[in-house]
Amino acid sequence: MQLSKRVSTLSPSPTLAITAKAKALKEEGHDIIGLGAGEPDFNTPDYIIDAAVASMRDGLTKYTPSGGLPGLKDAIIAKFKEDQGLEYSREEIMVGTGAKHVLYTLFQALLDEGDEVIIPTPYWVSYPEQVKLAGGEPVYINGLEENDFKITPDQLEKAVTSRTKAIIINSPSNPTGSMYEKEELKAIGEAALKHNLVIVSDEIYEKLVYDGAQHYTIAEISEDLKENTVVINGVSKSHSMTGWRIGYAAGSQKLIKSMTSLASHSTSNPTTSSQYGAIAAYTEDDGSVEKMRESFEERLNRVYEKLIQIPGVACVKPKGAFYLFPNVKEAADRCGFNSVDDWVKALLEEEKVAVVPGSGFGAPDNIRLSYATSLDLLEKALDRIANFVKTHA
Ligand code: PLP
Repeated sequence: MQLSKRVSTLSPSPTLAITAKAKALKEEGHDIIGLGAGEPDFNTPDYIIDAAVASMRDGLTKYTPSGGLPGLKDAIIAKFKEDQGLEYSREEIMVGTGAKHVLYTLFQALLDEGDEVIIPTPYWVSYPEQVKLAGGEPVYINGLEENDFKITPDQLEKAVTSRTKAIIINSPSNPTGSMYEKEELKAIGEAALKHNLVIVSDEIYEKLVYDGAQHYTIAEISEDLKENTVVINGVSKSHSMTGWRIGYAAGSQKLIKSMTSLASHSTSNPTTSSQYGAIAAYTEDDGSVEKMRESFEERLNRVYEKLIQIPGVACVKPKGAFYLFPNVKEAADRCGFNSVDDWVKALLEEEKVAVVPGSGFGAPDNIRLSYATSLDLLEKALDRIANFVKTHA
């Protein structure tokens, strides 16, 4: 069978690949510690589950409008108002089946063949693939480790061509956990506006920030920036609802209308009961979101201290999300491996610790460790990594 050209260049998600390999080894009886997870390890808070169950019991099990229930849009609008003082109308909000599919729909609505999208590295693995699937071309800017993996307006200016359509900003970032300050966003925003770029601001980790860090959205900086920005967010990470598949976009009416039309021919609507759960997530609060955040912060601090003790490992301390993104090039060299990818493979085979190689995120000297797992397991994993480096040195 001849498959389409479109899928022939697709790279499978490296995150899912390592998770699958770790799972297979576990099933064979190996004592694997998986640090590949891209999702919180807590259950969804009960008040959200209760709301979804109640909606089903009440017979609310049918199609909804493609872009989401008016009640959910209102809850999202209220959230924007409360968190950032931003005003959106229902026509400027589209709810989809997870932030990932909302982004997919966005690129389909935005890009023509050959349009360029600027993607800062290290990047979340799905951005380049989604851009390519929409006929676009990813253009990478290197977020330097010495600048906390963040890009500068100068770098952006240099990357812009007559074909540049959009830039992606992901703060807090997956995989680095870095966050942009308000002034940095302003400077990048001004450069983007000069070239009339659409700013895709992926804020899915907004609620997971540490050490008093403050999350800003580029859309709150000025009315002009709000007009050119599409904010992407969702409940997956903030409310531990990854499996519920609810994400959303906020942007101009014109764009949201076309994304909603696209969704009407692909997903029809996000799962009805999940939408009722998401309404509860945004309109009620039993303190569990903050408790999960505190737990992540405790783990980050413990794991970070242990990690930087390992010879040949250097790590920028993340400010948000639930990943550490250490540079292990020196450790891999010392251990005699040709690449960090090989080092990661050997770590899984010998010490049974699964981490994700940075090559999939455009940063081949780094690895991604998720701390969305218990402290006990994290400490054990760090001991194993230290032992691995010691044995091979
Ligand atoms: N954006 C980033 C940066 C992510 O890390 C993820 C999930 O891993 C998503 C978007 C997608 O989230 P969702 O589960 O809502 O599709």
